[in-house]
Formats: sequence, C-alpha cells, structure tokens
Amino acid sequence: MRLVCAISMTKRILVVEDNPDNRILITDVLESLLYEVIVAEDGEEGVTKAKAEVPDLILMDLSLPKKDGWTAAGEIKAETALKEIPIIALTAHAMVGDREKALEAGCDDYISKPIDLRELTSKLKQYFE
Ligand code: MN
Repeated sequence: MRLVCAISMTKRILVVEDNPDNRILITDVLESLLYEVIVAEDGEEGVTKAKAEVPDLILMDLSLPKKDGWTAAGEIKAETALKEIPIIALTAHAMVGDREKALEAGCDDYISKPIDLRELTSKLKQYFE
C-alpha cells in the first residue's frame, strides 16, 4: 500500500534544456531524487510537452533553439490549465537582466548555472511542500 501511494505521488518535472550534457546531468540528479523526468530539447518542444504532459514543475533553460525560454515560459503561463505550474528558469549568465526578464516572462524563480545541486534540491523541496 505504501508503495502504491509513493508512486502516485511521484512528482513529474519537465526539463527544457538544449545542452545534452546539462540535460543528462539534471536528469540523472532528478531521477536519483526519485522525480519523474520529461525532457524537451528546445523551447517549442517545451511548450508542446508542457501542454501534453502537464508536469508538476518546469525547469526552463533560457537560451534555447526554435523558441527561447522567456517566450516558452510566457506561452505556458498564458494557458489556463498550465499557469499554476511553477517554472524555474536556468540562467546561464547569472545576469540580473536575464533574471528580471525571466520573472517578467512569468517564471516563478531562477537558478543560475552552473547548477548548484543543493540549491536545486532545496528549491524543489520548497515548491513541493
Ligand atoms: Mn541553452
């Protein structure tokens, strides 16, 4: 019974990241924390998978092919069915402008790259509590 309960409570995280090394690293870390991971390799795929999968949280790289992360986050937040999903931006440059733009686009939070795994873990906990 407890196992069934644990499985039904598994949080699903959509990782939108075009860099394969980062994608694999983030996926490995999240899976080791027992989250279910859905990946998207560009902003367009990110929006498509957000709509199709309705994840519990989204980690959104900003510099992405096809559609940048700011645009993708804005489109996701414009969907009634998706607007409550927390979006954490992954900001490559640790630049104040990038972060402000991410929050303006509708992201709820940001983490700077290179990703500090403890920061990532504690932010996820915060959103899932
Ligand atoms: Mn990128």
